[in-house]
Amino acid sequence: MATRNASPELLIVMAAGATPDQTEHVVARLQEVGADGRVSRGREVTVIGAIGERDLLAGLPLEGYPGVERVLPILKPYKLVARELAPDPTVIEVDGRRIGDGYFGLIAGPCTVEYREQTLETARAVADAGATMLRGGAFKPRTSPYTFQGLGLDALEVLREARDETGLPIVTELLDPRHVEEVLDVADVVQIGARNMQNFLLLAEVGRTDKPVLLKRGASASVEELLMAAEYVAKEGNERIILCERGIKTFERSLRFTLDLGSVAVLKEETHLPVIVDPSHAAGRRALVLPLARAAAAVGADGIIVEAHPRPEEALCDGPQQIPTAEFGAFAREVTDLAALLGKQIG
Ligand code: PEP
Ligand code: MN
Repeated sequence: MATRNASPELLIVMAAGATPDQTEHVVARLQEVGADGRVSRGREVTVIGAIGERDLLAGLPLEGYPGVERVLPILKPYKLVARELAPDPTVIEVDGRRIGDGYFGLIAGPCTVEYREQTLETARAVADAGATMLRGGAFKPRTSPYTFQGLGLDALEVLREARDETGLPIVTELLDPRHVEEVLDVADVVQIGARNMQNFLLLAEVGRTDKPVLLKRGASASVEELLMAAEYVAKEGNERIILCERGIKTFERSLRFTLDLGSVAVLKEETHLPVIVDPSHAAGRRALVLPLARAAAAVGADGIIVEAHPRPEEALCDGPQQIPTAEFGAFAREVTDLAALLGKQIG
């Protein structure tokens, strides 16, 4: 039985016409599962404060009980990732590179591993410019099945070589749980893309690994849904999660996606996890990547993930938004100078 002086986890609001029997039925059901219900009878409405284990209460279908009007949770539906229960910011460290709590991560690289030289050239350029990790897609989630889908396992070998040469940790996407072993063998940080943000089996799969996870927000997902997706990973035991705002679908067509920078500020309040921004996929075109990257730093992001290519006009994927490697040094300086001005250290 839950203790009498504990605070309720849920408020169960009974309908105006609910009978005392219906209220008693709800309380009896709470008691049956080892919880408790504290009844407050108002002139119009009766409210039951449910006290007990949060997970247990969340699993009860209380909304369907006769006479129940609404069930209002008192605490957030996510808990492992919530700041309310773990106020200290999490720092994700990979091979001495850090993201979070004052450390700004600069993750850069090609959208896609196209061929060995393209990736190695990009890796060298971004390493020289001070990038802290190398990104590059081996398995690509493409809207059209007729476009380049990535080199797959061969790309992983190229990424391995790029890490060996530059020392940069590798961030690459896991698209299919059947590739978990091969991808995790090379990835230092495993990316879950926007399209898979609510692929709950994939989330659980990476939750059972010991690699940090870069979880991108779905283009139509709310902030709460992103946090619940992170909770799926954390629940399996892996709490090394980096969240990423990459733009959402709105009525606005002038950018590829609407970069929701407000969500970064909200996420920083809601969670102890580091939050980064992908200005490349939101912008869709190169000229906008720098202003969005600067805005990300200014709003308090813990880093950015950005695409670069030696010859973007030849890129097999996302050419218009990739920064030419020849210009990457200047780009990186602009963003990291601003982050430094805001008190961040480059991770
Ligand atoms: C990517 O980063 O390569 C990518 C495909 O991004 P998103 O999942 O955000 O579309
Ligand atoms: Mn891309």
